[in-house]
Amino acid sequence: MPMNLVNAPEDADARRAIAPVIAYPEDTLPRPDLEAYASARRGARETGRLVVPPRDARAFRVSAGQFFRITCIEGPQVGDLNLFCLHDPAERFFSGKTRALHGTHVTTGDRLWSCLPFLRPMATIVADTLAWYGTDPHGGRVHDVIGTRCDPYTHHLLSGGSTYHNCCHSNLTRALIGDGFPAERAEYMTHDVLNVFMCTGFTPDTGQYFMKASPVRLGDYLEFFAEIDLLGVLSACPGGDCSAEHSSDLAPCHPLQVTIYDPSERPTGWSTPSVNGYDRSHGLRHPEK
Ligand SMILES: [Zn+2]
Repeated sequence: MPMNLVNAPEDADARRAIAPVIAYPEDTLPRPDLEAYASARRGARETGRLVVPPRDARAFRVSAGQFFRITCIEGPQVGDLNLFCLHDPAERFFSGKTRALHGTHVTTGDRLWSCLPFLRPMATIVADTLAWYGTDPHGGRVHDVIGTRCDPYTHHLLSGGSTYHNCCHSNLTRALIGDGFPAERAEYMTHDVLNVFMCTGFTPDTGQYFMKASPVRLGDYLEFFAEIDLLGVLSACPGGDCSAEHSSDLAPCHPLQVTIYDPSERPTGWSTPSVNGYDRSHGLRHPEK
């Protein structure tokens, strides 16, 4: 029912005035030791590099304890990142819970969490050259975990039936197939992304998802520490800097680079996290042994 056809109750203002509470306070969330990560990073050497072509995606592998960096190497460009546990692709990045734990946009010190029932940190952000951006006058912030990924189905729906094959969803799917996953399985593996370098928010009046030109410039990067052995897939979004539109070839698009760094020593006190400790009984009684 449209909101204007509903009469507000007498205590409407009082109900609206109730103060919010943070759903997941961070004080009980295990925090990474960024100092230890930084110390390990200083002794790291580059061991791999790949370039993701514009309007396409590539897969890469990172071992637990290594670092990987996504860099803007040619011009303003947004990247859509998927992450899987290398040994079990059923464990994949959970943008929704990452959002619930860290907020709509992530930066240094935040972690990318895996889906249920695994729910453990897959990667920790250790450097973000766009951390200065903060919140702009429109409510925009950088590196969001709200925007899913551009896809040909939504485009088909909203464009009156047009076909476009280089949305991030398709790019990620093709990259997984190129990495050896069966075509019939790959599309279902593709999941909601971390929108690297993307500047987004919600309009204050209508609550609609918006994007605007990314502030990313040549040389900017977002760097991660791999908490577990990872298969990553990165798409260079057809939206380019996402200043106008995606799901077309109209926007100027640029490549992105992924660089892997291997430290000579793992961070002091660090070990790869175990999967979540909940016993998965869901209130059911275990059969008598
Ligand atoms: Zn995209």
